[in-house]
Amino acid sequence: MQFASRLDNVETSAIRELFKLLGKPGIISFAGGFPDSAMFDVEGLKEASAKALAEEPGGALQYGATEGYEPLRTQLSAFMKTKGVDVEPGGLIVTTGSQQALDLIGKTLVSPGDKVIVEGPTFLATIQCFRLYGAQLISAPVDADGVKTDELEALIAEHKPKFVYLIPTFGNPSGAMLSLARRRKVLEMAVKHGTVIVEDDPYGDLYFDKAPPPSLMSLTKEVPGSRELVVHCGSLSKVLSPGLRIGWMIGDAELLAKATMCKQFSDAHTSTFAQATAAQYLKSGRMPATLAHVRKVYAERAEAMGAALRKELGDAISFAQPGGGLFFWARLTGANGKVADANELARRAIEKLVAFVPGAPFYAEKPDAATLRLSFATANVEKIQEGIARLGAAL
Ligand code: PMP
Repeated sequence: MQFASRLDNVETSAIRELFKLLGKPGIISFAGGFPDSAMFDVEGLKEASAKALAEEPGGALQYGATEGYEPLRTQLSAFMKTKGVDVEPGGLIVTTGSQQALDLIGKTLVSPGDKVIVEGPTFLATIQCFRLYGAQLISAPVDADGVKTDELEALIAEHKPKFVYLIPTFGNPSGAMLSLARRRKVLEMAVKHGTVIVEDDPYGDLYFDKAPPPSLMSLTKEVPGSRELVVHCGSLSKVLSPGLRIGWMIGDAELLAKATMCKQFSDAHTSTFAQATAAQYLKSGRMPATLAHVRKVYAERAEAMGAALRKELGDAISFAQPGGGLFFWARLTGANGKVADANELARRAIEKLVAFVPGAPFYAEKPDAATLRLSFATANVEKIQEGIARLGAAL
């Protein structure tokens, strides 16, 4: 078959090959980006879906508006308010996961050859998605405080990108959190250069000890002229259920109108049943307890993984302890002649029945072969200790 030329820009990810091996019996996987299924609030969702069907069968089962189911938009507006973002229900659109928001951003903003700045490393599916629309991706360096703003500003000045894509809070894969000072700096440079900033925020609610600084969208209140330049993507996937496929996008009215038009041609609307269920769930008031629970469990697992990595891998690995999210981002140091190539370690690790994801594919430019990503979300503390011990043996 003769495929569209846009497919020339993307390839199935190297990681996919690794995932095929994850079915091996007895394997402990730190590879996926999944939340733990055992933490889904099944009772709450049962009640919410039953209510959705009982109270509004027409809305929950009929075709709906492309922009989103009105009661859910109202609930999401209230949810965002609890996070310091003032947005009317009409100021956001519901998307089929935040992944669709990213796709709509690519579709509405990227022409072939347009430059887009992303973090190095960044979310793999975003790299693929923007490349599908012909974007030329430029990587801005990241440290423990998120994207380095001086370097970012120099890249903006040099490349005049269509937009900058950031995951400011507990990045995937970096786990890094953009500091408050840098957040302000990002908004100031957006205004100075007239640059659109896409803020992808699926992990902001998954903090452990202390809440992260306000989102870029929330901080636009403090930086005149920045509100219309920021696009914010949210998701219920990591805190409630990824299978619901509920995400949302907040941004400039004209962008939302264009994105809605494109969404209409793509899936007409996000499942009304899922939207009505999510609306009932948010209305039920169970969300704060759910969030408290997932934060507590993931905090314990992150603590256990950090301790196990220090014990089992010592100075052969360097990493920053994440303050939230689902991931450790680490770098093999090669100390004492130990393996420093994450691909090689991944191969050996699979033999020892433990899996993780090598970091190189997460870079749009200049991959670092010594990096790797470990998710602490789906294994319990015991499994984490056992899995990291196996990793130590593989090393
Ligand atoms: N953005 C980031 C940074 C992610 O890690 C993910 C999920 N892994 C998504 C977006 C997409 O999530 P969803 O479509 O389930 O909302």
